[in-house]
Amino acid sequence: MKDKLISYLNQLNHVNEDFQELANYAKIHNVPIIKAEGLNILKFLVIKNKAKRILEIGTAIGYSALSLASVFEGQVDTIERNPEMVKLAKANIEKYGYTYRINLIEADALLVDFSLLKDNYDLIFIDAAKGQYPKFFNMFAPLLAHSGIIVTDNIIFHESVLAETSSRLAKKIDEYNKFLSSHPEYRTIFLASGDGLAITFKKD
Ligand code: SAH
Ligand code: MG
Repeated sequence: MKDKLISYLNQLNHVNEDFQELANYAKIHNVPIIKAEGLNILKFLVIKNKAKRILEIGTAIGYSALSLASVFEGQVDTIERNPEMVKLAKANIEKYGYTYRINLIEADALLVDFSLLKDNYDLIFIDAAKGQYPKFFNMFAPLLAHSGIIVTDNIIFHESVLAETSSRLAKKIDEYNKFLSSHPEYRTIFLASGDGLAITFKKD
């Protein structure tokens, strides 16, 4: 029943329509792309905040980068360390004609050359190795524009975050969520949509 409701809402939202082919590819090849419900919230934030610059950590095949690039006019910088994924993402970005607006940076985000990045992102989307979330946050949050937003994906991690036998990774995500929840400088709203999203912004 819940799945039916989600599909019903996704249809109303027209999510997945533009890049359905990539979503299908991801499903067949087990590439963990953002769920439609989460993507929809990201799109809303990008449009409503009139974003000009987005930074994404974890490109995979370029699905979320392309989906977000399609709803605004600005620039997406996206970092991916897996050469296989970089190859696929590059081909997809070219195929859909976004080479000039999506800047794919092949690097381990933890070692990325900061001179390739900007210092005023309206949205930072954290969606790479789940065990490194606090590191990504501490590294990239300083690049946020004054009224910018950080969105972190997979914060309920296939609902395993609460399981009694939760994995080491699920425990790390729980630690990250608590870190965000008690952060003195940032406020976070935790949503159950998709695989769970944390929406974080700087306190005044
Ligand atoms: N944002 C994509 C999905 C990303 S999946 C979408 O929703 O469409 C996570 C990706 O992060 C994987 O492709 C993985 O290779 C990459 N990744 C994991 N750790 C990384 C790191 N330290 N630096 C760069 N990329 C990383
Ligand atoms: Mg994700």
